[in-house]
Amino acid sequence: MILKSRALRNGIMVKHHIFSSLWSSIKQEVHVIISNASWKVGNGQSINLWMDAWCGNSLAETLNIHTSVLIWLPKKVSDIIHNQHWLIPHYLDSLYPTLKNLVLQIDIPVDDVPDSLIWKGTDNGLLCLKDAYEFKRRQYPKLSWGKVIWSKDIQPSRSLLAWRIMLNKIPTDDNLRERGCNLTSMCSLCNSNIETMFHLFFECRFAFGFWCWLATSLDMIIQFQSLEDIWSLCNRAISAQCRIVIKAAIINIMYAVWIARNNARFKNIKPNWNSSLAWIVVNVMLSGNHTNSLASASIRDFTILKAFKVNLNPPKPSFLREVIWQPPPPQWIKCNIGGAFTSSAAACAGLFRNSSADFICGFASRLNTSSAFSAELYGFINAVDFAVSRGWNNLWIESDSELVVKAYKSATEGNHCADGLAKLGLNLNSVLIWNDVPVEIRDSFDSNKHGKPCFRVVHS
Ligand SMILES: [Zn+2]
Repeated sequence: MILKSRALRNGIMVKHHIFSSLWSSIKQEVHVIISNASWKVGNGQSINLWMDAWCGNSLAETLNIHTSVLIWLPKKVSDIIHNQHWLIPHYLDSLYPTLKNLVLQIDIPVDDVPDSLIWKGTDNGLLCLKDAYEFKRRQYPKLSWGKVIWSKDIQPSRSLLAWRIMLNKIPTDDNLRERGCNLTSMCSLCNSNIETMFHLFFECRFAFGFWCWLATSLDMIIQFQSLEDIWSLCNRAISAQCRIVIKAAIINIMYAVWIARNNARFKNIKPNWNSSLAWIVVNVMLSGNHTNSLASASIRDFTILKAFKVNLNPPKPSFLREVIWQPPPPQWIKCNIGGAFTSSAAACAGLFRNSSADFICGFASRLNTSSAFSAELYGFINAVDFAVSRGWNNLWIESDSELVVKAYKSATEGNHCADGLAKLGLNLNSVLIWNDVPVEIRDSFDSNKHGKPCFRVVHS
């Protein structure tokens, strides 16, 4: 609506310059929006009958009508609507016999509602900022290191420098030459090589010393074939706190090298490796101690964090809770519902038992969802549907999902069997129903039946 009021007049883009850097850029996108949108017919008063896309491509294009002819024809879609029905004048029908077939495909709403512009790229037809961003970014490849560089525990200005280095947008001599600056080049840190981006940040003995220090602190050999490889250090199976520390070390090394280079080149300050290292250590320590991310209980984490003088954020303690399955009262059926997930699939399952803890039946189903909550909720809905279809009116449902339980104000315990069934559901193509206890959950089923406790690790 805002775009419409600023950049459109009578549905046509304004020709004058909009005095704003932001709005004039947005104005340039109007044709992108129009070409990726189509009109949903309401009362037809806002839609140009021939030029707008409202029944496929524009009618002028489909019927190959020259613009000079259009001035003699009705202008708006509303001109061929009468009492909420299509009314195509005879002369139009005889001029363009296929017009009727195209127009009659479109239903006119019963009520007098305004026309609406629908974005083709989304299911609901709305174009929100996220959709617009995804649409525009499609032309750019996804960068494996894109997200790694940024962290709320590291100053954005330093992450920004790392970002520019990765995109080779740093004004090092080689890049300046490429942009046409004719200059003689010498690395200001070692005075023995020409300055290229790769030399300055990775090969130069000044920078190389920092990478060796990082390798020693991590007790590993750092090898990389390309710039992207440095970030793989953060992707290893390490705790979140260690990841922040390593990320901060890489980013601060790059920043320290750049500052030392600029100081040497523009302020004639001789690079001092030891003071740069001290600066890096302090900044890595600050990021590592500032973060709320947790370490794991491994010795490796402990060693890494100690090497950077970072206090370990201990993982939350876990404890064992005894869980005993309770059978339902007589005349009641109890259903335990559960969910199972892998990175690519989800499944829900339910297990019905009576007051004697006998197996009545069970179901499992693979789902097209990746949300734990949705999977448990599907399980719940399936269980209720199933119970209704069998005429079980006294139904007690147990679920592990706090949200589902809160949503239905129930209580929860002992879902091992249902979780086991849900894991089976991950490999299914359709809903599977068991009328006898499946072999895979026989042990936990017997434990439940005989009132044996099982234990669940609970994170505080
Ligand atoms: Zn150098």
